[in-house]
Amino acid sequence: MKCDILTIFPDIFHAYLGEGMLKRAIQNGLIEVTVHSLRDYTKDKHRTVDDYPYGGGSGMVMKPEPFYTAVETICPDRSQRRILILSPAGRKFDQNLAAELSQENRRLVFLCGRYEAIDERVRVALADDEISIGDYVLTGGELPALVIIDAVARLVSGVLGDEHSAEIESFSWGILDYPHYTRPPVYKGLAVPEILLSGNHKDIVRWRRKQALRRTLKQRPELLEKTTLSEEDQRLMREIKEESA
Ligand code: SAM
Repeated sequence: MKCDILTIFPDIFHAYLGEGMLKRAIQNGLIEVTVHSLRDYTKDKHRTVDDYPYGGGSGMVMKPEPFYTAVETICPDRSQRRILILSPAGRKFDQNLAAELSQENRRLVFLCGRYEAIDERVRVALADDEISIGDYVLTGGELPALVIIDAVARLVSGVLGDEHSAEIESFSWGILDYPHYTRPPVYKGLAVPEILLSGNHKDIVRWRRKQALRRTLKQRPELLEKTTLSEEDQRLMREIKEESA
């Protein structure tokens, strides 16, 4: 996975990308992230990236030229790039989109907005996708870019130590994750479920699936409507419903 980020605050990225799993993935050449300062692609001596909105109103608008110049300099070949503009008005980012982006062979170019907005001509004629990370408004596109890169990088082959750990977790297997425990066996009077100490792998797998179904039913029931439940899942669901009746 190769990413380019266009931002007026490049320093925001260094701390996050310089720690943990993403740092290792970058060092091992599994992902490549290049952060570009948008001001390097301006032409005036003040390195201006914003201007007043046509039609009046509050806030400044990010000028189109620095974005176009940066993209055409960094990756002039259209077929080699997929440009993602971050915006609260975009397609909602989720695990399916993360999986799709993790298979992308083109460079992922993230356009981070600030101020009131990015000039509309960037969205309509430069960007390939407009992506939102949720129904709330942040001060800039830098956190959304990091959120997306983090979620996508975990799905790139080799980034997680254990290849299976991304498969059995919230959303990837259609429902929420099951509860996890580690030592000590009893903490503040709360004991680890007996079954997890039993060593019976088959029973543990069944218990975990049932817990995941139970948690999904309680916390995100709409996910169950979109998931195909196996016969065993349906049996577990009946058990869950009987137990709570
Ligand atoms: N006026 C815009 C609106 O109402 O939709 C909000 C602009 S916001 C203050 C500045 C920038 O932050 C946006 O251009 C976008 O790049 C980024 N941003 C803010 N919230 C976001 C979200 N939920 N998802 C993705 N990007 C977001």
